[in-house]
Amino acid sequence: MREYIMALDQGTTSSRCILFDKKGNIRAKAQKEYTQIYPQPGWVEHNPKEIWSSQYSVMAEAMTLLSEDEKIVAIGITNQRETAIVWDRETGEPVYNAIVWQCRRTAEQIDKLKEENPELCAYIKEKTGLIPDAYFSASKIAWILDHVEGVREKAEKGELLFGTVDTWLIYNLTKGRVHVTDYTNASRTMLFDIHSLTWDAKILEYFRIPASMLPEVKPSSYVYGHANLGSLGENIPIAGAAGDQQAALFGQCAFEKGDAKNTYGTGCFLLMNTGTEAVHSGSGLLTTIAASCESDDNRSGHVEYALEGSVFVAGAAIQWLRDGIGLIEHAPQTQQLCESVSDTKGVYLVPAFAGLGAPYWNPYARGMMVGMTSGCKREHFVRATLESIAYQTCDLLTAMEKDSNLNLTAVKVDGGASANDFLMQFQADILGSSVMRPKCIETTALGAAYLAGLAVGYWKDKKEIKENWQLEKTFEPVMEQEERCLRKKGWSKAIRAALYWADDEE
Ligand code: ADP
Repeated sequence: MREYIMALDQGTTSSRCILFDKKGNIRAKAQKEYTQIYPQPGWVEHNPKEIWSSQYSVMAEAMTLLSEDEKIVAIGITNQRETAIVWDRETGEPVYNAIVWQCRRTAEQIDKLKEENPELCAYIKEKTGLIPDAYFSASKIAWILDHVEGVREKAEKGELLFGTVDTWLIYNLTKGRVHVTDYTNASRTMLFDIHSLTWDAKILEYFRIPASMLPEVKPSSYVYGHANLGSLGENIPIAGAAGDQQAALFGQCAFEKGDAKNTYGTGCFLLMNTGTEAVHSGSGLLTTIAASCESDDNRSGHVEYALEGSVFVAGAAIQWLRDGIGLIEHAPQTQQLCESVSDTKGVYLVPAFAGLGAPYWNPYARGMMVGMTSGCKREHFVRATLESIAYQTCDLLTAMEKDSNLNLTAVKVDGGASANDFLMQFQADILGSSVMRPKCIETTALGAAYLAGLAVGYWKDKKEIKENWQLEKTFEPVMEQEERCLRKKGWSKAIRAALYWADDEE
């Protein structure tokens, strides 16, 4: 029998299933998009039943690609984070749609919390590592309890369960027997004390969330239960779970303190492993739990942490070049356009279309293009757009180095826009560090597979996994230090201009 690990990658727009072999190669893959529900501007929901049915159908589809002498030995889950689901403990029926991480319906409630209760905000930051925001699960659960008829009474009687998407999938895979989450997903609810590894009673009280709704919290590499899937297989251990960004960090084998990965998708997600120390950020970065597994260098009951920062607009700026202002026809074309000129002729684009995140945190900042002369052509404009992704990443990394006192020597990359050689080279130049692109860019699903495979002994240890990580290309910095400083200075000026635009009241 040839054996594989099944990774369930439950993302914001699609459910995927990938079967990996021991070398981390993909044996089979299936993907299905599902419905996005927008009941009002700024509101985003998913139907929990469709999350489950789409996930089940891709599992079945991937399994049909296996022959009779091939089987699955464990399931690992990675999922969209923060999305909140509440369902009935007995029937398994959701009481409302899943409120998706992107949903802003509770923004006013969080604004009120910030205005009226700065002490609690500081407490939340200290305990959960997060800056209070509608993005995290806490206020979404509270919304369901406060707005859906009859739900609060049921919750107080202990009749309802809450879960993030991993919890929902495990509950369904085990036919309602297991109600559990992992440390990484718990750390995104804004209810979990990331130091004591327990749900925080004071925050639960503020949001009026009964503790009886909450799942048990276990390590990311752990046998949570067994899936009985009829013809698809019986008694398969569900042995790994992690939020998507933490799974990607693990899939990139960023196991050592100071290892970092950046995912270049619609936005960028940069995570740096900080080992067993939860680093408090003075620059507006988030402190979060990293996916880890018990091994000789990580004592039982301990977790590893990461610093996290995100760039709101990265690949989205390239989509804007294509769909918004029609400067390009497709994303890959930007590489040749950027390489056709040696610089931007002094032009900077700050794509603050939705405000600026860490380390600036200004929700009112807006996009800005500065430094134009009559010599500025389409190529310069396109190049300035791609460079802006690298500058934003550099700002985050600088903040991370400062917060953690760790020096970054190399960044591992993945995500759609990491395919762009120009962007990766410019990233290395502006950081002054190597940028390493692996052969397998399915790092999120791979991370979930690794966590599951480690729990059941499919892989012996992290060392064995590390041997799977194969480099496709390294980009080494070639830019002179003086040039780097000059260009970064220009970027800082452009940022100042965008902030001035946001703050000038006149
Ligand atoms: P997400 O998971 O956020 O949907 P992906 O990892 O699929 O994102 O990456 C898609 C993004 O990458 C898009 O915004 C697209 O503009 C950008 N992208 C894809 N290929 C390239 C390329 N060759 N050069 C630059 N950007 C690219």
